[in-house]
Amino acid sequence: MDRFDPIDSLARLRHEFGEHGGVNLSIETSTTFTVMDAETMPEIFQGRMGPETGGCYLYGRHFNPTVFVLGKQIAALEGAEDGYCSASGISAIAATVLQLCDSGDHVVSSNTIYGGTFALFHDYLPEKTGLGVSFVDTSDLVAVEDAFTERTRVLYVETLSNPTLRVADIPRLADIAHRHGARLVVDNTFSPLMVSPIQLGADIVVHSLTKYINGASDIVAGAVCGSTEFVTSLMDLHRGSLMLLGPTMDPRLAYDITMRLPHLGMRMVEHSRRAMEFARRIADLGLPVLYPGLPTHPDHELFSKICNPGYGFGGIFGVDLGSVERANRFMETLQNEKRFGFMAVSLGFFDTLMSCSSTSTSSELTEEERVAAHILPGLVRISIGYTGTLEGRWRQFEEALLELGVIESHSTR
Ligand code: PLP
Repeated sequence: MDRFDPIDSLARLRHEFGEHGGVNLSIETSTTFTVMDAETMPEIFQGRMGPETGGCYLYGRHFNPTVFVLGKQIAALEGAEDGYCSASGISAIAATVLQLCDSGDHVVSSNTIYGGTFALFHDYLPEKTGLGVSFVDTSDLVAVEDAFTERTRVLYVETLSNPTLRVADIPRLADIAHRHGARLVVDNTFSPLMVSPIQLGADIVVHSLTKYINGASDIVAGAVCGSTEFVTSLMDLHRGSLMLLGPTMDPRLAYDITMRLPHLGMRMVEHSRRAMEFARRIADLGLPVLYPGLPTHPDHELFSKICNPGYGFGGIFGVDLGSVERANRFMETLQNEKRFGFMAVSLGFFDTLMSCSSTSTSSELTEEERVAAHILPGLVRISIGYTGTLEGRWRQFEEALLELGVIESHSTR
């Protein structure tokens, strides 16, 4: 069997052309749809008929034809049977967990995840639904196994943890989850194309499309990929989290995102090439740098084993400046004096985005929780862009290090 490649998988989908034969997909803006035969309506309401099962579309908060196409495309990229989209990454995560868990059920979650997901699992869902969540270091497989209870329904990890860039051992985590009758849910936001969790045994992949997949920091969106049965269940009229909580993606935005998928591969390759080069050069300067592409990274071998070849090790690296104050001064110098990137949260933009994780996207964790997750106070997370030339950008970066006295002279390249 051919090795799975996400880009080939997407290319094998029938290209969706427009209503009038246009080479691009049509945008279906209608919020309601006619049935030609009145008998069809109850069949759709009972979930016995749908767009792919002899029925048709029903209502804009249910399946929409344009969003439907994007869902299928993301599913193809992930090698999943099916997929659908939502209004944000966090709504995709919340809908997935709520679909899999009932009140009193239990989730085992990595302790190093995006701060918003952490707050959802640590505070919001337990308070509102009675869900129990145990946070563990998921690189410790014994601790993961020990955290399971009879009520555990979900094991939750990020492929590359935010912001420490530890790599989830998806095949082994899937094995543990399945032995306990639970599902492995993986947030693959940091590593589209690079890692295909479902191909490695995960049950469900969630994405913040807001990041690399859209790539222009101008759309907030999310996606869920998994079995057709699971995706259909999210849209059930009586019990579906996407249908009943209603984080509906606007079809106009779905269209915009489909227009950016054809160059996702090229973008990821360039993000990864630049991150690798920056990480190598920063390591050569003797500074502490986190990047899974470096052989010194604790999960370098694991990543190399589970990744799809050709897409690199991702576009994000971390540099430890030692303290929040130094991290802040470094980012200010880069942005305000050197015109290098933006001091802004988020990632996967065509320009560079940088933030001090401990005071921003991981600030939902207490100091103690950040220590347990190995999130250092002065860690600057850098999502490297591809504007300008690599050499020009490196000069700006090095000048900021020189100006702050982090290094004493230019490197000898
Ligand atoms: N997952 C990860 C890894 C993230 O970094 C984020 C946001 O930063 C989210 C999920 C949430 O996505 P969104 O902002 O699209 O709701």
